[in-house]
Amino acid sequence: DVVENYLNRIDKVEDKVGSILKIMGEQSLKSACALDEKGVKAEGLMGIPYGLKDNISTDGVETTCASKMLANYIPPYNATVVEKLQKSGSIIIAKTNMDEFAMGSSTENSRFKKTHNPWNLDKVPGGSSGGSAASVAAGEVAFSLGSDTGGSIRQPASFCGVVGLKPTYGMVSRYGLIAFASSLDQIGPLTKDVKDCAIVLNAISGHDEKDSTSVKTQTKDYTSNLSKEIKGIKIGVPKEYFQEGLNEEVKKSVEDAIDYYKEMGAEIIPTSLPYTEYALSAYYIISSAEASSNLARYDGIRYGYQAENFDNLIDLYRKTRSEGFGEEVKRRIMLGTYALSSGYYDAYYKKALQVRTLIKEDFDKVFKTCDIILSPTCPTTAFGLGEKSNDPLAMYLSDIYTVPVNISGIPAISIPCGFDKNNLPIGLQLIGRPFEEEVLLKVGYSFE
Ligand code: GLN
Repeated sequence: DVVENYLNRIDKVEDKVGSILKIMGEQSLKSACALDEKGVKAEGLMGIPYGLKDNISTDGVETTCASKMLANYIPPYNATVVEKLQKSGSIIIAKTNMDEFAMGSSTENSRFKKTHNPWNLDKVPGGSSGGSAASVAAGEVAFSLGSDTGGSIRQPASFCGVVGLKPTYGMVSRYGLIAFASSLDQIGPLTKDVKDCAIVLNAISGHDEKDSTSVKTQTKDYTSNLSKEIKGIKIGVPKEYFQEGLNEEVKKSVEDAIDYYKEMGAEIIPTSLPYTEYALSAYYIISSAEASSNLARYDGIRYGYQAENFDNLIDLYRKTRSEGFGEEVKRRIMLGTYALSSGYYDAYYKKALQVRTLIKEDFDKVFKTCDIILSPTCPTTAFGLGEKSNDPLAMYLSDIYTVPVNISGIPAISIPCGFDKNNLPIGLQLIGRPFEEEVLLKVGYSFE
């Protein structure tokens, strides 16, 4: 019944929202019936339907990265997170729309369709996990998974009024996640509330020998720490996250959240993360450099799209990649290839890595005196469809508060903290020490 209810809801609203690339109707009903027949107890994620970003591999089911390059690609294996969710009894009902290869902040870079923000259909849902966020906000799925390389879980969560967590790098296996920038990518949950987020994190986290960057940590129950009691917690508020470019209504809403925490007995500590201003530049060099290398595998020979007419091998590569990749993906490949080329390596890529260390050290210093850091998730609420499509730099600025977290490998959560005058959701970002997701979840839970 639960799966059927969600499928009915998809039937009703998907025409308007457009968050889904593939509905797994029959397959999901079959899985649900199998659980019913087994007579399993309805607890935890048992029988709960979810949506999966379409860059996470599903055995026997198209996984397209919203790209023409992978339009007909069917992986022969499941990502580890999919296996884990299957074990928990959760049922996948949809593969969700995204920016092509997770590059973007509005989901408008999908080669297949536009996704609309459920709060206002003329606005973007954010990106790149826009389909994952919108499907949760529209009630089409109970929760979803996204991937976050520079903000792609938290920014759409903020725009769609849902909770989104980017876990510590290495917490959740990346095996089966189609790579964008391997040193930054991390899979995480998008949910209705913080408790659901903790439940999903319980299911998907943990060491995986198939991912060499996966970390061996002791397993925790992330739901056990949730309480309203946060007295004495030290919350750092970095001044760099409240400067020019921050929308006034967003600022006000985040300041109200700070007042709430003060009343609850938290200690609010004004802090500074001085290297913040270089984070976006470093991110676009590092992520594009890694992308140019990761995307070299799409050559039209091994798998994926192949151009129809070609004269020779080089011509095959050129045509396949020209036709298979969209504009933004090509822009990143060119940027990354340039930054890695021998004459410019030191000036760009090496420099960006040095900046990366400085940004990480900024956080380390603040975490000596603060338990968590609080900021807006994004400088604005959801913008209009088409508003920034022709201005990549304006689009990139949407991630100004989220990228430093990926650069540093630390965890952060976005939780809804209010609405602007147009009734668009505003997101609050809480940033934590590595592997201290339970602190983020607790402080987030207290605010709900
Ligand atoms: N919007 C950022 C980008 O375009 C972040 C993407 C992401 O986190 N996958 O690179």
